[in-house]
Amino acid sequence: TPDVRPLVAGNWKMNGTGESLDELRIIVNRPNSAIGEKIDALICVPATLVFRAAQSVEGEALHIGGEDCHAKKSGAHTGDISAAMLKDAGASHVIVGHSERRTDHGETDAMVNAKAVAAWDAGLVAIICIGETEAQRKAGATLDIIATQLAGSIPDGATAANTVIAYEPVWAIGTGLTPTAEDVREVHASIRAALAARFGGQGARQRILYGGSVKPSNAVELLGIENVDGALVGGASLKAVDFLAICEAYH
Ligand code: PEP
Repeated sequence: TPDVRPLVAGNWKMNGTGESLDELRIIVNRPNSAIGEKIDALICVPATLVFRAAQSVEGEALHIGGEDCHAKKSGAHTGDISAAMLKDAGASHVIVGHSERRTDHGETDAMVNAKAVAAWDAGLVAIICIGETEAQRKAGATLDIIATQLAGSIPDGATAANTVIAYEPVWAIGTGLTPTAEDVREVHASIRAALAARFGGQGARQRILYGGSVKPSNAVELLGIENVDGALVGGASLKAVDFLAICEAYH
């Protein structure tokens, strides 16, 4: 999208301990990478690592995010993490509504919407995930599902600064499968149209990431598609060399 700075975001999921922080140092120590020059980059890490990850890249162009937050500010929610806690630990972003949260924890569009508001209230950028299942795609329902998820998951206050949309076809996550370039183009165009219709100029500039089996070998093609403003990368974000290679698509 013209005038939109790309974002490549990693998602470590439930992977990583202290020694994994070495990968972050490798990323920031790579000379002449696109990160900070042509693109923004972010790694979302398990809650246990947010503080140490943020410390280990302090002053660098690489940002650190959380993978989920609770919708409430505080209270009796054993085991949950608030957006303010992530912010306090050094995060700048948080993923909300990842398909694994929707599946594993029954998160609905309304819950995702509330989490995005909580993220903003804490000063975090919300990365709101949407995407169709394999059955929905086979039924030809993709664009309808996307429209419903967009309407339900994105709060009214969304701007280009506080919100990133990630289109992640559920069947493409962690499978090695990706949609065709034409299918990605079609979905991203429909998301752009919906955002522009609802949010005007802000919607025209909101980043729309593609996620689902992005790897070094397909990054150039996927990231070159119209209205693809970056990637959300799971498996290939665990190793600095792969993450850096994906970022190189912008060089
Ligand atoms: C993800 O978890 O958001 C994701 C896209 O995973 P992967 O890149 O492994 O498919």
